[in-house]
Amino acid sequence: MREKLVAGNWKMHGSLAQNKALLEAVSAGMAGVKGMKCAVCVPAPYLSQAQSLLQGSAIAWGAQNLSQHEKGAFTGEISAAMLLDFGCKYVLVGHSERRAMYGDDDVTVAMKFEAAQKAGLTPILCVGETLEERESGITEAVVERQLDAVTGRLGVAALSKAIVAYEPVWAIGTGKTASPEQAQAVHAFIRGKIAVQSKEIADGLVIQYGGSVKGANAAELFSMPDIDGGLIGGAALDAQEFLAICRAAQR
Ligand code: PEP
Repeated sequence: MREKLVAGNWKMHGSLAQNKALLEAVSAGMAGVKGMKCAVCVPAPYLSQAQSLLQGSAIAWGAQNLSQHEKGAFTGEISAAMLLDFGCKYVLVGHSERRAMYGDDDVTVAMKFEAAQKAGLTPILCVGETLEERESGITEAVVERQLDAVTGRLGVAALSKAIVAYEPVWAIGTGKTASPEQAQAVHAFIRGKIAVQSKEIADGLVIQYGGSVKGANAAELFSMPDIDGGLIGGAALDAQEFLAICRAAQR
């Protein structure tokens, strides 16, 4: 039985004071939540704060991006080893905003995935189609291409220590959620595709849904057989919304 994972992606939001209030409220609220995993992916400058506030709690923390390189002359970049120094468990790779705005193409995403895993971090591989791609009927082809970039480079075994997040780009930050049936169809496609190579890895793979998840729609989405929790943007900045989503992921 896969345990659901709810991970907050704070994007470029927060301040020391805001984060403290948010993390304290989420930690307190998580006390009664069992049978699911919870994490927050905070902006890099706040990893140290997340580490000191969350250490010993049930909430893991992680980053939103990393360099594909180990070290060297890469001004402004952050390596996997640096994230580990701050106790990160997870790191997002291939978020659609990185793909669209920062040149993270499939090869770069696969290299980042590899760098994360090599260091012992758990990559959360984000995949998903744009509205135009969905309307052209190529959703599965796009998701397949994004997954193949990783499994082609590293083999299907790489997915045994990773999370996949299906995030239709048209649903991110738009308030327009994929219906549970629409999301389930793509999740089942992803799991079925992996199962062709390894049923064991497919069965164990946590596949999150991301795209305008809120307390009000989380339970319905999470009730689908192949939806194993959520990657949460906007609603992760509101402690009560985020906690409602975490409660919806309880077994
Ligand atoms: C995201 O940033 O990954 C995301 C899913 O955002 P939102 O929940 O705001 O749509």
